[in-house]
Amino acid sequence: MDSSPPPCTGVLGTQWGNDPNFRGAYSSIAVDANPHHREVLAGHIGTRLVFAGEATSIDGPATLHGAYQSGERAAAQVLSDAEKSSTTERSYC
Ligand SMILES: Cc1cc2nc3c(=O)[nH]c(=O)nc-3n(C[C@H](O)[C@H](O)[C@H](O)COP(=O)(O)OP(=O)(O)OC[C@H]3O[C@@H](n4cnc5c(N)ncnc54)[C@H](O)[C@@H]3O)c2cc1C
Repeated sequence: MDSSPPPCTGVLGTQWGNDPNFRGAYSSIAVDANPHHREVLAGHIGTRLVFAGEATSIDGPATLHGAYQSGERAAAQVLSDAEKSSTTERSYC
């Protein structure tokens, strides 16, 4: 299975959150993508950027529990990175 998501060809900003009849939107995978591409979104972007949100969840995309768990996962990644970073900095002292 191809682990790379299709290249981004554009960005669409929605206004569903301002619509009183909907109050929001959630992700849907592209025609050429597959659910495992959400793992790419959940990974590191460079060395310092980590995304949370339902779109990064394999187990619960488009749901509140997926969004919640993604926040816990992203926070754990940030804490782990900070711990590694402080350990590395100490080793240079
Ligand atoms: C109509 C509807 C019904 C739903 N029903 C259910 C349900 O029954 N059960 C269920 O589990 N899930 C349901 N969902 C899905 C659930 O609401 C979402 O999956 C969840 O809220 C996603 O959380 P999130 O934190 O990933 O994103 P969001 O809740 O969309 O949070 C993203 C936040 O980022 C902010 N933001 C966006 N752009 C910027 C920017 N440029 N700068 C700063 N802030 C920005 C937005 O204002 C928003 O507050 C429903 C969704 C909709 C729309």
